[in-house]
Amino acid sequence: MTAGVSNPAWSGRRVTEALEFVKRLGRKLKQPCSLCGQPINYDLEYPDPDSCSVQHVKPQSLFPLSRWDPNNWAPSHLQCNQSAGTADSLGLGVTSFE
Ligand SMILES: [Zn+2]
Repeated sequence: MTAGVSNPAWSGRRVTEALEFVKRLGRKLKQPCSLCGQPINYDLEYPDPDSCSVQHVKPQSLFPLSRWDPNNWAPSHLQCNQSAGTADSLGLGVTSFE
């Protein structure tokens, strides 16, 4: 990808902000997990396996330019996100809260 489009990797502070966005909306709308359909306890924090994580509706691997589109984000349990084989949705940056 050398298109020169600004599309930073899914990492760092932006991921933290994306997670806060999804959690805020999910809590307000009482959204269940987008993968298993079970409720999410939005009070749990990473890395609790039942905590909220950012699931990409369109996978980043196929739609990298949708990575930072809030319309492409949905809440899911961290463990569901991981077991769905979309670990890239989590981003390594989730572990590095700054
Ligand atoms: Zn789930």
